[in-house]
Amino acid sequence: MHVNCVFCKIIAREIPATIIAENDAVIVIKDIYPQAPIHYLIIPKMHIVDMSELPADKGKVAAALLMMAQELSQLPGCKQFKLQNNNGPRAGQVVFHIHIHFLAGF
Ligand code: 5GP
Ligand code: ZN
Repeated sequence: MHVNCVFCKIIAREIPATIIAENDAVIVIKDIYPQAPIHYLIIPKMHIVDMSELPADKGKVAAALLMMAQELSQLPGCKQFKLQNNNGPRAGQVVFHIHIHFLAGF
C-alpha cells in the first residue's frame, strides 16, 4: 500500500467505496462523480502510478484489468461500454494509481 493514495486506502478498506467486483488482482468501485449512467473504476490492487510505469513483467496486471472489463460487460446494461485510461496530468489523470474508467448504460 502506498501512503496517501486514495485507491490504496479504498483497497485496504480505510475509506469507504461502493465495491462492484473484486478478485485477487483487481477491485471495481463506483466512481464518486459519475460521467455516465454507469461509471465504474477498474483498479489493480498493486500500486502502480500509470501505464507508463507498468513493469514489463507485470503484463498479468494489464490482462486482469481488461478481463475485468469483460466480466463487467455481463452485468445488466453493460454490454455496450467505453473504457478510458488517463495517463499523466495533462491527459486528465488526477489519481496516480492506475485505473480504467468503465462507462456504460447509455
Ligand atoms: P482520473 O481523472 O485520475 O482518470 O480519474 C480519477 C477518478 O476517480 C475520477 O473520475 C474521480 O471522480 C474518482 N475518484 C476520486 N476520488 C474518489 C474517491 O474517493 N472515491 C471514488 N469512488 N472515486 C473517486
Ligand atoms: Zn495506490
